[in-house]
Amino acid sequence: MGALAGESRESPTDPGRRSRFQAAFLSMLKSRLWTHRPFFLAHAVTFGCNSRCLTCSYWKLTPRMKEDLPTSEVYRMLDEAYEAGMRGYYLFGGEPLVRKDVGELVDYAQRRGFVTTMNTNGSLLAARAPSLRGLDFAFVSLDYFTAYNDVIRGRRGTFGEVLRGIERLRQVTGAKVTLVTTISRLNFDAIEPMARFAEELGVSISFNSIEPTLDFGLTDSEASPNFDFGLTPLQLHQFYETLLRLKREGYPLLETERVLQDFVNGRTWKCEFPKMFVYVSPDQKIYSCDYRYGYDLRHGSFEEYFSSRAFQDHVRTSERCNRCVRTCVRGYSYTYEFRLQHMLGLAEGALRLYRQRPRSGGSVGSHPPVPTPPFEVPTPRVS
Ligand code: SF4
Ligand code: SF4
Repeated sequence: MGALAGESRESPTDPGRRSRFQAAFLSMLKSRLWTHRPFFLAHAVTFGCNSRCLTCSYWKLTPRMKEDLPTSEVYRMLDEAYEAGMRGYYLFGGEPLVRKDVGELVDYAQRRGFVTTMNTNGSLLAARAPSLRGLDFAFVSLDYFTAYNDVIRGRRGTFGEVLRGIERLRQVTGAKVTLVTTISRLNFDAIEPMARFAEELGVSISFNSIEPTLDFGLTDSEASPNFDFGLTPLQLHQFYETLLRLKREGYPLLETERVLQDFVNGRTWKCEFPKMFVYVSPDQKIYSCDYRYGYDLRHGSFEEYFSSRAFQDHVRTSERCNRCVRTCVRGYSYTYEFRLQHMLGLAEGALRLYRQRPRSGGSVGSHPPVPTPPFEVPTPRVS
């Protein structure tokens, strides 16, 4: 633990980056052909969040930040995950950048040999960017192409912060940026404009959706933001159809045409997600993706968990579960199964991501001035 502290950082162009990517690919191959165990550690690094999104209730857990795993314990967990064969480290929260040591965590993971990915609301990105040189991929949430984003996010000024943060990140790191837009009834008109916006910024984009019948995890049905703002089945269908059209028109969507086409046609699929990702909470508990059971990593190990009946049952039953409406979960599953048409689409998206540059003659910072929302940011409901 901590043995790597103080070693020099890998530069964005270092061949070490290529070897980490190759190792991650091999770990997926090994899982697919042999172990059927996760190779990506998805770590909610904090209970804290500095936003109050209308479509999320996670921010209510912020008082539990004192339970976040200390730096040295995260290092220990990364060591153990590496020994267990994992080669991807995905940081999220809450909002991961509220942790002051987030750059150290990313650095440690990178030097240990993980491909590093972060999901962030972008509000602290400009300030933290210099510490994120070890980051490979940044998924930055943006739910609207104007400051109306701040209304959905429940935090004034986020729209400008995100634009400045992306610019700064691309100035000082080699991280590839993807916007993540969550579509709900609050921004159903934003699908096409957001695709255009991403293209103008020279970044990729991925879309999520929420729908009222899908609610599990850290919310309860009475207080569900999904219930208030989720898409109807008809809207969900229109959502997939619009994404498919935009993909075919050449917008920089990460979703592949195969995935979108199958959503539009209502095709069932085999979920491979639990064989790919293991989710660890800020207080080191493993939860199944449907939150049906948990496992306390503080009194066990990844090895023990992967050998447990609970994990193996979960993997088996998941193959028949089609609960997720998120395009990414189906996409991961198709990748795991090496579906040819999907893999070709994925390669094209990866190439686009790899070649990512700010648009010619400008940068995200040259985007027109951020307009002021025409209304007050409402205080989100507290159940
Ligand atoms: S969606 Fe993300 S940024 Fe928004 S409240 Fe939830 S955790 Fe925070
Ligand atoms: S489809 Fe089911 S098994 Fe797969 S990630 Fe979603 S909830 Fe989990």
